[in-house]
Amino acid sequence: MDSSGGEVAWRFGAVNPSLEAASALSLRALVHRLYGCVDRSDPRPLAPLGHGDPSPFACFRTTATAEEAVAAAATSGKCNSYPTAAGLTEACSAVAAYLSRYLPYELSTGDIVLTAGCNHAIETMMAVLATPGANVLLPRPGYPLYEARAALGGLEFRHYNLLHEKGWEVDIEGVEALADNNTVAIVMVNPNNPCGSVYSYEHLAKIAETARKLGVMVISDEIYEHCAFGSKPFVPMGVFGEVAPVVTLGGISKRWMVPGWRLGWIAMTDPKGVLRKKKIFEAIITYRGISVDPAAIVQAAIPQIIANTDDVFFKNTMNTMREAAEICYRKLKGIECLTCPHKPEGSMFVMVKLDMSYFDGIHDDIDFCTKLAKEESVVICPGSGLGMKNWLRVTFAVDPPLLEAGLERLRSFCLRHAKPNRKQVTS
Ligand SMILES: *Cc1c(COP(=O)(O)O)cnc(C)c1O
Repeated sequence: MDSSGGEVAWRFGAVNPSLEAASALSLRALVHRLYGCVDRSDPRPLAPLGHGDPSPFACFRTTATAEEAVAAAATSGKCNSYPTAAGLTEACSAVAAYLSRYLPYELSTGDIVLTAGCNHAIETMMAVLATPGANVLLPRPGYPLYEARAALGGLEFRHYNLLHEKGWEVDIEGVEALADNNTVAIVMVNPNNPCGSVYSYEHLAKIAETARKLGVMVISDEIYEHCAFGSKPFVPMGVFGEVAPVVTLGGISKRWMVPGWRLGWIAMTDPKGVLRKKKIFEAIITYRGISVDPAAIVQAAIPQIIANTDDVFFKNTMNTMREAAEICYRKLKGIECLTCPHKPEGSMFVMVKLDMSYFDGIHDDIDFCTKLAKEESVVICPGSGLGMKNWLRVTFAVDPPLLEAGLERLRSFCLRHAKPNRKQVTS
């Protein structure tokens, strides 16, 4: 039907400007653009070293126990309803018991809020804390969803540095200098994405003392909990919950290698109940009430997933991850224009510095990664996306033979783009 009679002046079309600002901060768009640069006629398999998702590789497939638990939940006929606002009670209680195994106190069911992945937990915390004038302290390099979600909600963020010369520890003095009366939280990621570091007990204690001194809460992103394969064991920040209130963010995405299942959590690891007193917990529940729920099927499967996963699964996947990290570190060390200041000991990532003076016709890390994707079908995340210009973030959560092949292509790419005088040095 033609309802002509002149042009309609549609009144929509401008989008929320904060959305564009937030998206510009996020990594996803940047990495997707790089995937788009890959030459589809290249017969070599794409080496996806840009984002951490090991789940497509057979060597990192999740345990059958977990898949069976989800399948059973799906066919039970009991998971077809809306879940309750904080999450299914049995699931919250299973998560509380699971996290309590590693804490000097017991969490209760009411300390846990389930989220649609850890990203949703980040979204929730940034939304809850966005009061006028408040600011949060974020690590650099970091996980840019914090910046994106803070920007979207109008929450000011300030960056403190992670120090590569100190194994990527938190710059405690920097944190103290950065904080003011409007600072409400310090965010930390341990084991660390993107640095591959694991914080020692002593370092965590220092962070907690600093938070106490400043009167701020700690938001501890522990999505890589127990993904530690070096000499330092993983210690949850909640161990220091008596020193300063800790909000622990986590989920099954990385440890169980099922990021597609979208199940995360927020845990009040705060034995003194400061967060409750200050109505933060209430605000989290309020936010969850107007936000999304994780799928009831996955929530219902959580108690079985946690109870029945054999330690052998974790041991095997961590052995493969350790092997992959070793390959990654060794191959990167063999590339002259790259410096890897710290051998990865946790998470799925490592940071590498580019020597830009080495290259002929490559301007910066983004240019480097774009050409690398085009010419070698290797996708690596440019450091610029994490506030680290002319660095790279490499993930090693890839099937080891493909990882090795991808890094070999990275090596030949570097040699091919070296300045003529530098090339001689190499040979
Ligand atoms: C992967 C990741 C997340 C997101 O976890 P999901 O459960 O997949 O949403 C959060 N924080 C960090 C540091 C991550 O690397």
